[in-house]
Amino acid sequence: MKIGILAFQGGVIEHINVTKKATQILSINCKVIPVKYKGQFSDLDGLIIPGGESTVLHKLCEREGIFDEIKKVKNIFGTCAGAIMLAKNVNQGLPDQKTLELMDIELARNAYGPQTESFEQDVETKLGKFHAIFIRAPKITKIGKNIEVLAKNNKEIIACEEIGDRYYLATSFHPELTTTKFHERFLLKCKD
Ligand code: GLN
Repeated sequence: MKIGILAFQGGVIEHINVTKKATQILSINCKVIPVKYKGQFSDLDGLIIPGGESTVLHKLCEREGIFDEIKKVKNIFGTCAGAIMLAKNVNQGLPDQKTLELMDIELARNAYGPQTESFEQDVETKLGKFHAIFIRAPKITKIGKNIEVLAKNNKEIIACEEIGDRYYLATSFHPELTTTKFHERFLLKCKD
């Protein structure tokens, strides 16, 4: 298998490391490679879009002309800004904010306030108990009928997935910093 990590900015190294760790835990033979140029997406089994800054991410994707190639990848996992990139709708985006418009979810950017309002929280979820880190996080404000909720923090949805012809996984927090569980789930879906 081959998993790409979109490598413009943000938590790239963290995602590479945790994805490799998840492949070891699951004993899956899988290459994990940074990707950002045209021609690097067509043979991927899955793509991970790290957190960072969604406006920057979309501008760099546009500069490299890779939007259409990314849209064709069958399995995509987005964390935080990566989840914003996946969403069909974004609130509090810039007027010209562009996303991949792939996953039937709506997010509100920077919904907990500025960087100084970033926080950490223990959460109990369908994938087990873990520590979740929210860094100037978005809120997942609406989900479509085919979206399954995987994790909540109190009443708020913090992780969800869409299973169909394609597989999409979105988290508003940063699982790559504290758990392998979401990367394991993503790898298993890519392997199906
Ligand atoms: N605030 C960023 C955005 O709206 C997301 C932050 C993150 O990815 N940690 O794009």
